Amino acid sequence: MTTYVSTGSGAWTEPGAYEVAPGVHRVPLPLPDDGLRAINVYVLTTPDGLVLVDGGWAIPASREALSASLAELGATVGDITRFLVTHVHRDHYTQAVVLRQETGAHVGLGLGEKPVLDLLQEPDRAPLEGQIAGLRAAGATELAELIGERSKGHRVDPRQWESPDAWLEPGLLPLPGGRVLNAVATPGHTAGHLVFHDLEGSLLFAGDHVLPTITPSIGFEPVLSPDPLGAFLRSLALVRERPDALLLPAHGPVAPSVHARVDELVAHHGRRLEQTETACAAGASSVFEVAGQLIWTRREHRLADLDPFNTMLAVFETGAHLELLVAQGRLAMAVEDGIEQYGSI
Ligand SMILES: [Zn+2]
Repeated sequence: MTTYVSTGSGAWTEPGAYEVAPGVHRVPLPLPDDGLRAINVYVLTTPDGLVLVDGGWAIPASREALSASLAELGATVGDITRFLVTHVHRDHYTQAVVLRQETGAHVGLGLGEKPVLDLLQEPDRAPLEGQIAGLRAAGATELAELIGERSKGHRVDPRQWESPDAWLEPGLLPLPGGRVLNAVATPGHTAGHLVFHDLEGSLLFAGDHVLPTITPSIGFEPVLSPDPLGAFLRSLALVRERPDALLLPAHGPVAPSVHARVDELVAHHGRRLEQTETACAAGASSVFEVAGQLIWTRREHRLADLDPFNTMLAVFETGAHLELLVAQGRLAMAVEDGIEQYGSI
């Protein structure tokens, strides 16, 4: 039998170690200054030590919270033998790498993340370089300038972005003690995103692929992958074909059914594609203009009400929808003066 507590808004971020299934605990770690507020890492107890799904962001507050929560389980970070990281974003990957330097734990990351990690390891690369070029092509010229200004002087810390010990490919991952996880490639949120499915335990460690209360950002990557929304929807279909499971998300409370949430996400993007097509038909042409015609967040904001970072996410999200509409033959795209222009066929 699995136990989970359905919690109201925000309660899921409370620090602690919450049992979600026998031998599996959810440990929320803080993400200050981040709209997501926390990331759940999942601690799997095995006879040979702890296996963690995702590592958290390498900041002191996260490290302290992890130590305190492991103490509730009678363990320390020294008991971690392995990290299985769902994708290369900083809130999932960096603390795994930093703790490895200390504990020797083994770190696995999906092979499809290698191009992005290679880029992050380039010493002189400015952060968000690829995204800033993407904003220009989207017609968001002022936003590109602003984000460029703000990220000046920021450099990535190479110690947080070292390579994993193993590049994971889809397939079975047997853990000590008999639990078997099935790594499933779910490109979309990132090109190399993996989910880990415990068939016998009916658990899906979903990373950011299936989130219970929000939709994961699509199209925000330093290495642009073709048709990320198409990839994401195919990955949702793939997960939907597998047996249903308890949804163990990286952000938000545990939810009873992966299938139910996948159906909602597919419906959301279907509506969003229609709205995007309608905005184009009404005359919006660049990605930025189309994004300006849409309503954002559950609180129904206009694009102009969002902060610069979230405006950027919204622009890339819109670009991913437009790209899929082109792939589906519903819109056409032409580049004029370096800016993508979308319109009817
Ligand atoms: Zn995340």
